Amino acid sequence: MALCVSKNRFFHFQLTNTTTKMKCFVAIALTLLASSAAMAEIETTPSGLKIDVQSKPDPCDKVAGNGQMLTMHYTGKLEDGTKFDSSHDRDEPFKFQIGVGQVIKGWEEGVLGMCVGEKRQLIVPPELGYGDQGAGDIIPGGATLYFDIELMDTEEGPTPVNVFKQIDLNDDDSLSREELSGYLKQQVEAMKAAGGDQAEQATQMEDDQDKLVEEIFSHEDKDKDGVISHEEFSGPKHDEL
Ligand code: CA
Ligand code: CA
Repeated sequence: MALCVSKNRFFHFQLTNTTTKMKCFVAIALTLLASSAAMAEIETTPSGLKIDVQSKPDPCDKVAGNGQMLTMHYTGKLEDGTKFDSSHDRDEPFKFQIGVGQVIKGWEEGVLGMCVGEKRQLIVPPELGYGDQGAGDIIPGGATLYFDIELMDTEEGPTPVNVFKQIDLNDDDSLSREELSGYLKQQVEAMKAAGGDQAEQATQMEDDQDKLVEEIFSHEDKDKDGVISHEEFSGPKHDEL
């Protein structure tokens, strides 16, 4: 009854009337229902991301799935309300492929399953955003990010290429220096065939080939056992997103 009483200080004096009592009860019940429904829409996922679905078209015809090219409008704010970026200010929606590491983790997760026309707010903890280091002068380290996003369109994205598999010729799930070197030669040939700037770059790559292989190994062969394992490889290595 607290809600009824607080809405109208004098209300409780009239509660002897049964009809009024009922009205009051119904009002409380409706308020409770409304608030629980609103709470149900803010979902916190296991990663710590908060997703607040603000409006969803019905019917929902197109849904964002991994690998697709998405067109989105968004506004990003810091916890204190400072706007750090907005596609609306540029008058042009943002286009990106989802599921391939083009956007922060909070987006990769929080945009999935959105309908075209749906609006969400994503509350992105730093570990799913720009972490302890932040980004540029705009986003301080450890910042929680608030994004209002709207999905404008989805299209089929380019097919992901499993580069690991392409390099691993003998299929033993690890990359040797010879395999990497062979792959780079192929790339160089393809670049030469393309001509122009690419061909010039290719010649340079060819000259520096051994150095390039060593550089890649120093970076990728983390346990220094002379091969790059599937786990160590930092490039594209999945057939499906
Ligand atoms: Ca191999
Ligand atoms: Ca290794």
